[in-house]
Amino acid sequence: AAKRQGKNRAVWFDGSMERLLEERNRVEAGMRQGIPAGEFAPYYEPQVDLMTGRLHGFEVLARWEHPEQGVIMPDQFITVAEECGLIAELSECVMRRAFIEGRDWDPQISLSVNISPAQLKDPWLAQKIIKLLTETNFPANRLEIEITETALFDNLGIAQSIITSLKNQGIRVALDDFGTGYSSLAHLRALPFDRIKIDRSFVTSINKDSESAAIVDAITRLGTSLGMPITAEGIEDEKIADILKGLGNMAGQGWHFGKPMAIGKTRRMLADLDMLTARSSEEIAKEA
Ligand code: C2E
Ligand code: MG
Ligand code: MG
Ligand code: MG
Repeated sequence: AAKRQGKNRAVWFDGSMERLLEERNRVEAGMRQGIPAGEFAPYYEPQVDLMTGRLHGFEVLARWEHPEQGVIMPDQFITVAEECGLIAELSECVMRRAFIEGRDWDPQISLSVNISPAQLKDPWLAQKIIKLLTETNFPANRLEIEITETALFDNLGIAQSIITSLKNQGIRVALDDFGTGYSSLAHLRALPFDRIKIDRSFVTSINKDSESAAIVDAITRLGTSLGMPITAEGIEDEKIADILKGLGNMAGQGWHFGKPMAIGKTRRMLADLDMLTARSSEEIAKEA
């Protein structure tokens, strides 16, 4: 152990910290020019009703379509965007594109958009989202905002008023990654959520350990008695989907139903389901 520690220390003095900072600065600089250049795109992950198998919406997940490095995942840029004050701009770009791309889809298809803890400190967040809906002509009742518990823990006061403003406009609000944050049950009582999303960590292990199964079962019952629909995230195979179906009425998403897709593949999926209204892609491209 002493040897390993010594080795780590050597790496530290070798300048791993500097390399980390350099990398961060590189990402930040890339974002500063990549956001206005339109390099950040919404990808769409199918959300289905587990009982009927019917598609009811998509979660919107940001991807950086980097001209040299290819598609970059959110864990490489969301935290940096939060730390250097770019998250609001990034979020607006991705949301605007998703609203424009999604507005001609079947009216039963909703979009779920993730909001960062840092954005919940902005008292004008709800007004900004509502303005974006008006500008893009996307209906409020087809939008769901996903908020994590950690975000609430930091800013309960502002979060509460943002959620109220959103709901007054007919926008739904979901509690994301439920079960991983702090004082979950107090939040459920204090805030009028429209949906609870069970974190992937419980779902993926549901057929491996009985604790996960018990937790998913308990959250499902809680949601049912509070009148909040449940979504299980991270459903990777049919076995897990079947176990969840046995626990009650819920929605689900995960690789079993489809990975996050770029707009082209998403439109093909919707066309196959006859859930696309006829507007040309060129028209959409022009407005974007
Ligand atoms: P999240 O909101 O919990 O999103 C679900 C994540 O789980 C996505 O990762 C999705 O690709 C992944 N996932 C879905 N199904 C499965 C599955 O069956 N198995 C496994 N192993 N993973 C699955 P992704 O796209 O990498 O996003 C990671 C996180 O980044 C998201 O977690 C969300 O918190 C954040 N994020 C993504 N886009 C945005 C955005 O536009 N704004 C903000 N603020 N955060 C975002
Ligand atoms: Mg989410
Ligand atoms: Mg989640
Ligand atoms: Mg999660």
